[in-house]
Amino acid sequence: MGTTTLILGGGWGGLTAAHHLRGLVPSEHRIVVVERSQKFSLGVSNLGLMVGKRESVEQIQRDMAKIKRPGIEWIQSEIHSIDPQQCTVETDDGKLTGDYMVLALGAELAPDSIPGFEQAAHNLYDAEGAVAIQHQLKGFEDGKIVVLVAGTPFRCPAAPYEAALLVEAWAREHGIRHQVEIDLYTPESIPMAVAGPAVGEALSAFLDKRAIGHHFGRQITRIDPATRTLWFGDTDVSFDLLIGIPPHRAPGALENAGLNDAGGYVPVHPQTLEILSDPDTLEVKYPGVYAIGDVTTVRLQNSMFLPKAGVFAEGEARVVAAAIAATINGEPRTGVYAGNGFCYVEVGDGSAAYGAGDFYAYPGPRVTLEEPSTQAQAAKEEYEDLLDLWFDA
Ligand SMILES: Cc1cc2nc3c(=O)[nH]c(=O)nc-3n(C[C@H](O)[C@H](O)[C@H](O)COP(=O)(O)OP(=O)(O)OC[C@H]3O[C@@H](n4cnc5c(N)ncnc54)[C@H](O)[C@@H]3O)c2cc1C
Repeated sequence: MGTTTLILGGGWGGLTAAHHLRGLVPSEHRIVVVERSQKFSLGVSNLGLMVGKRESVEQIQRDMAKIKRPGIEWIQSEIHSIDPQQCTVETDDGKLTGDYMVLALGAELAPDSIPGFEQAAHNLYDAEGAVAIQHQLKGFEDGKIVVLVAGTPFRCPAAPYEAALLVEAWAREHGIRHQVEIDLYTPESIPMAVAGPAVGEALSAFLDKRAIGHHFGRQITRIDPATRTLWFGDTDVSFDLLIGIPPHRAPGALENAGLNDAGGYVPVHPQTLEILSDPDTLEVKYPGVYAIGDVTTVRLQNSMFLPKAGVFAEGEARVVAAAIAATINGEPRTGVYAGNGFCYVEVGDGSAAYGAGDFYAYPGPRVTLEEPSTQAQAAKEEYEDLLDLWFDA
């Protein structure tokens, strides 16, 4: 008899899981993606939108109703609650029941949690916000541009640094660099701390080379939109254009599901992605229920956490799809998630720096960052190939 796998969330991780599982189990087994949004896009496209390499939101979005691969069902609905024990979810369209469940709900943005953020900042992590930055840049002639990280953890640890470097390159290309001051403020102690001090220093050096001010250990407390002032405790900083990365929080649908840890996210086994009742003992809470991507916390050997990034969501999704398929097909389970990750840090002028490493290494991640190259930039642009791979135009 056919089984049903419920995939909660149709973002980068959820859709990867759906595609892989579809290739591994016969068609009588249903794969159901529950996703509230009608449109799919990759966060990485927002950087191109911001500097006008992509003009409109429509250009970077695809319609969930046009998922190409037969046998992947999309239910457009809001998930309100999750019962992992019964493998059920309550949605706007009633209760759904599955045999297997993959939580891929991502992380939510919480711009409302910093007073003044919504009024003063253009939100880079929202496609419409990225277009607003594009429009603001077009009319910008002189003044101070600030890139602000409003809280940790946040998706894609490189993105704020890329934003600062891309805006700098944009100002040079448009002949206004000498009239523009660019600064980045973040609560982090170094850039991409999880990748280790060498990567942090390399990223800081990219910023120094481009005369971009960087200010670490700065936690924003409020923003005054009228006077365009950022408040960090008792120090204030002025700005003319504010590019904001809002605080993130765990998805609301997790409330009362008994799945999250003190930080709000779902602790999972680093190799199997099964949900844990205790990250110290690695005791699995609900066999057959998995969580992947930004909704999870994966504790590393140095007690830091795996970054929230699409490449990790994608790698985890493949492992989970294989594990569910093995159970359905009555085969032994093969493969575990090994914690390898990579990224391309865009530095402007058509170049990116390739960083990669083993995030599960002991005593901490072993990550290296190469010098920027046009090849790495071209490879980064291939992320967007997923749009045509997964969707009809
Ligand atoms: C500017 C920017 C640049 C980035 N660059 C990179 C990069 O270069 N490389 C990289 O690896 N990553 C990058 N990322 C990060 C990457 O986009 C995320 O880490 C990735 O999308 C996580 O995948 P996910 O499936 O866990 O979550 P998501 O892709 O966020 O998907 C979660 C889905 O769940 C849905 N959902 C949530 N709650 C509910 C509910 N209650 N009911 C129904 N549906 C719900 C959401 O609508 C969403 O579609 C970038 C992100 C940004 C913003």
